[in-house]
Amino acid sequence: MTVKKLFWEDPYLKQCTATVMSVDGNRVTLDKTIVFAFSGGQASDSGTIHGYPVMAAQKVDREIVYEIEADHDLQVGQQVEVIIDWEKRYKIMKLHFAAEIVLELMVQNFNDPKKIGANITAEKARVDFEWHGNISEVFPLLQKRIEEIIDSSIPILSCFSDEEREIRYWKIDGFGKVPCGGTHIKNTGEIGAVLLKRGKRLGANKERIEIYLC
Ligand SMILES: [Zn+2]
Repeated sequence: MTVKKLFWEDPYLKQCTATVMSVDGNRVTLDKTIVFAFSGGQASDSGTIHGYPVMAAQKVDREIVYEIEADHDLQVGQQVEVIIDWEKRYKIMKLHFAAEIVLELMVQNFNDPKKIGANITAEKARVDFEWHGNISEVFPLLQKRIEEIIDSSIPILSCFSDEEREIRYWKIDGFGKVPCGGTHIKNTGEIGAVLLKRGKRLGANKERIEIYLC
């Protein structure tokens, strides 16, 4: 029995009650959680378990192990309140989906360039591509299309493609369907305005797109 990931069922949950399933020094697991652990480039959430700040959240296969301070009194079987830093998470969700749109627009409009990296924090998202030349040349088209998609407030569906193996995807009718295990907003309109910037040079034929909320 691995942790039930409520952040998929309802990515807007800010608080939940859970049961402590294991305690190993300062590492604990829960029966269910809303605290996302870094994966697919999406940063871990900040939050607390029974008031103890989560210092690290690590995905171990399908389990999530949380590190809290060593001097804690949590016991197996104990009921605890789990709270996330919602302001941080919501920024991550908006930037995450802005990055999804940028990526899909690149796939559709620029001959599916090879993605070589991605990272999403509450401050910015970045997507790196194998690319010849200056990637900011495509920004007018990207910026126009992403604004259209945001302004159209389009519903985003997020589902399991394989619930047993916890493989998920997001889908926008008529736009795209992409595998991803991150936490997604429900509507493109939530993103608001975004700004694209060319990131630092990564080396020959490698370019970075940075995305900011504004
Ligand atoms: Zn995603």
